[in-house]
Amino acid sequence: MIKANRMDRGFYKYQKEYEDKVLEVLRSGWYILGNEVSCFEKEFASYIGTKDCVGLASGLDALWIALKALGISNGDEVIVQGNAYIASVMGITRNGATPVFVEPDCYYQIDVSKIEEKITSKTKAVLVVHLYGQVAKMDEIVRLCNKYNLKLVEDCAQAHGAAFQNKKVGAFGDIGCFSFYPSKNLGAFGDAGAITTDNLEYAEYIRVFRNYGSEKRYYNKMVGTNSRLDEIQAGLLRIKLKHIQEITDERIKIAEKYNCGIHNKKIIKPQVRKETYGVWHQYVIRIEDRNDFIQYLENCGVGSLIHYPIPPHLSKAYQYLNVEKGSFPVTEKYAATVVSIPFYNGMEDEEQEKVIEIINDYKSEE
Ligand SMILES: *Cc1c(COP(=O)(O)O)cnc(C)c1O
Repeated sequence: MIKANRMDRGFYKYQKEYEDKVLEVLRSGWYILGNEVSCFEKEFASYIGTKDCVGLASGLDALWIALKALGISNGDEVIVQGNAYIASVMGITRNGATPVFVEPDCYYQIDVSKIEEKITSKTKAVLVVHLYGQVAKMDEIVRLCNKYNLKLVEDCAQAHGAAFQNKKVGAFGDIGCFSFYPSKNLGAFGDAGAITTDNLEYAEYIRVFRNYGSEKRYYNKMVGTNSRLDEIQAGLLRIKLKHIQEITDERIKIAEKYNCGIHNKKIIKPQVRKETYGVWHQYVIRIEDRNDFIQYLENCGVGSLIHYPIPPHLSKAYQYLNVEKGSFPVTEKYAATVVSIPFYNGMEDEEQEKVIEIINDYKSEE
């Protein structure tokens, strides 16, 4: 069986370093917000190319707190692509704001030609989600945000190290939001997240907010939350960050192998925008008869996943937004036809070749 994802392979690649770090932290006697977290914050900010980074407990917290730091609240509208992951939308609605959906383009990113028509007097921000490790058309988005005086937040949970014209995502917006959930490109071994920013006031606000609104023990200047990054996760992330280029290069190599090897008229392969550097979080294809295809893969011992079968506007959680089915045909079409095929660090050549062969054989007799 070739599974859709294998996180153990990524662990074994650098096993000794991870194990040594865990023991080092355990023996240090300091487990929350310590040296590992502050070192990771500096190293990750430097990697992304921003002045600061603040470690948090998850990617959802990063989105929620970033939008809060920008003053987004009840009655405000935030523009986001229709095929976003549900957490991106929850980051908006947890602040009481309303998501305003925009269709994705052929790269699965927000369609920049459809943003302007959605801007109203209530629009406060654009939340760009760099989906599948690919990159939105950032020059145009930055131009629109400047023109209409909108805040720009990037959801980079699937795009650590991805870049547009050589500038990394997470460095374009007012705030960049990252998740280090284990399956992400830069994945921890538990929950973790962070924000990146050049604005030291936002960073300061978020640093205080994550720890009960407290800068100094017993003194609370706001009603904050508990969204702290722990020392073990931060220490493990520092190790993975040292190897991130190798990790990304391996993903790009697998994607190239798929791009060159997969030839089946029924399948639409992913495209990459010219001026971007994608880091391949998933390898997502499209196929009309998806159920049959997934069943066929399973019969051949190949796993797959769907990112994502139900777009946020059609999920039960967002029924209250009253967005009708059919309102976002591109988004809905993608939700009905996308499939993520096996893709992970440590995937062996024979596994990749077998996946290609099985996919190419799908109904080839027709
Ligand atoms: C994973 C993910 C999140 C949420 O991150 P968590 O750490 O699971 O809270 C948000 N947005 C996108 C695009 C994601 O892929």
